[in-house]
Amino acid sequence: MAGRRTYRTRAIVLDRTKLAEQDLILTLLAADGSQLRAVAKGARKPGGRLAARAELFCESDFLLAAGRSLDVVSEAQTVEPHAGLRGDYERVAAASAVAEVARLTCYEDAPDRFLHPVCSRALAACEEAADRAHLDLVVAAYVWKVLAHGGWRPELETCCACGDADVTYFSAAAGGVLCESCAREVAGAQEVSAAQLSWLRALLTSTFDDLLAAPIDAATSLFLLGSAHLWAATHLDARLRAMEFCLSA
Ligand SMILES: [Zn+2]
Repeated sequence: MAGRRTYRTRAIVLDRTKLAEQDLILTLLAADGSQLRAVAKGARKPGGRLAARAELFCESDFLLAAGRSLDVVSEAQTVEPHAGLRGDYERVAAASAVAEVARLTCYEDAPDRFLHPVCSRALAACEEAADRAHLDLVVAAYVWKVLAHGGWRPELETCCACGDADVTYFSAAAGGVLCESCAREVAGAQEVSAAQLSWLRALLTSTFDDLLAAPIDAATSLFLLGSAHLWAATHLDARLRAMEFCLSA
């Protein structure tokens, strides 16, 4: 490794791909919001030096050596292991949905200071959520916030076809809410209640602390997760398997 340029960054492990017998390629969300991919040698060796730091969702300070195609992890110090997720099936499923959308909304060489803190907070919120309804709420809020920040902000006040203020339908393909007459022209437009609409608006404006403390029923949080999934799948044009799993489980 002599002579290679090295650099340090804090990063969250979003994805792991097997490479050779004992190595992994890590997909990382760096502190500056860009995506990094790096080889962690020996990270699949049980009890190995890097194994714990290469766990999914783990936040570490990495020392990376620039490589020709992929960078290589030289050292890693765990900062936040998100230990409250481990061994809890529903929390891991929710955190996996967060990591999946994080991976699809950050890019190499494209720093964005919004992305790392909101992902870190959402993963911590997956540890803190009191019940399944709040876990769904956390995932939905993360997805709506990150997509809106990335340029896919829904129109939630007036009909996105005609501007009418009396809105009772939602369509991801149309870009937000619709009035009843415009909704007739949009395939798949879904009728939404005033309460559901105010929850959609709240996901974009409320903090995770507020959302974790807010009373919500399972049906409403499932609606919010479903609408977040539809919005993300439509605008990222991607199959979101971890979110699908949360919706079906
Ligand atoms: Zn309309």
